[in-house]
Amino acid sequence: NRRYVLAARPQGLPAPAHFRFEQTSVPTPNHGEVLLRTLYLSLDPYMRNLMDEAGPGYAPSIGIGEPMVGATVSRVVASRHPAFQAGELVLANAGWQDYTLSDGMDLTPVGTLRQPALALSGLGMPAFTAYVGLLDIGNPQPGETVVVAAATGAVGSVVGQVARLKGARVVGIAGGADKCKYAVDELGFDACLDRHDPALAQRLGAACPDGIDIYFENVGGPVFDAVLPLLNLRARIPVCGFIAHYNDAVTSAGPDRLPALTKAVLQKRLRMEGFIILDHYERRYDAFRHDMARWIEAGVVKVREDIVEGLEAAPAAFAGMLEGKNFGKLVVHVAP
Ligand code: NDP
Repeated sequence: NRRYVLAARPQGLPAPAHFRFEQTSVPTPNHGEVLLRTLYLSLDPYMRNLMDEAGPGYAPSIGIGEPMVGATVSRVVASRHPAFQAGELVLANAGWQDYTLSDGMDLTPVGTLRQPALALSGLGMPAFTAYVGLLDIGNPQPGETVVVAAATGAVGSVVGQVARLKGARVVGIAGGADKCKYAVDELGFDACLDRHDPALAQRLGAACPDGIDIYFENVGGPVFDAVLPLLNLRARIPVCGFIAHYNDAVTSAGPDRLPALTKAVLQKRLRMEGFIILDHYERRYDAFRHDMARWIEAGVVKVREDIVEGLEAAPAAFAGMLEGKNFGKLVVHVAP
């Protein structure tokens, strides 16, 4: 059983030294347990937050020497649980390892999908996050302008496509010309701007002549600075993530932007609402699953996966995602 454990807590971007590769024996299931073989491992930005000593609050931080956590599509290889049979594919939380045991509580049958990784991408947690944040907090109306960064990523790509389905105008922000071209040509965004462009703020203003009604916040940093002056009266800001700061080792000393933010929130009657997707499964997952399966099937929502081969590739691919090297939902193909 190969696995990666957290070896040290990163200050800044994770490096190979923060992960330790280990070999352990394959565990044996007890009564009521199943043995799972990892086929696909999802790599997601929240894992960076769980590597810090002070965790994010919605999930415990990973202890030193403990396996890196993560959602997986796994195969049941042995079952002593009445609800699961050997050979079945399940959505699980095996983490960065080949094998794990489960008591079944956290398992969901994947059923028959033409591509099992879809359970981690287009039908998975990030797409569900986009759905809830955009529809329930953003509430896009026809003709409104929606802005989203990390626009070709797992969450952002779905935000933009669903906003288009609801009749909104969508402006994406992404890292580099290739991603921007893809957002417009393939995902149907109305425009997409390169976040590395020094003139981003001016270009965003030109791309949003009627201002911004919804800013789906994925990144924070300079993108939010560019967005703030363009927000319309009663704009909505679903606060989903702020990946530009996940690797900050220290809090920046300034300048203090809080007065400008508070002023805008007050005078423009802005609504900023943070959300953690774990809170929404019970009430909204079935609706998401139903709508998204239909949209993907009909080809109106496109899913792009960035699949890397082999468990050994996980640490570098994960660090790369935190710098924008992924192009689509990052998934590790661990076993056939
Ligand atoms: P992505 O597939 O979008 O990958 C991360 C992307 O972030 C990179 O590809 C890069 O895109 C962008 N990025 C990296 N560094 C920066 C930076 N300094 N400034 C701006 N953009 C940067 O990841 P996800 O779709 O999985 O996640 C998107 C966001 O959603 C994250 O903030 C994540 O934490 C959040 N999230 C929140 C959840 C919740 O429950 N609230 C659940 C799931 C995700 P590019 O180079 O194209 O700009």
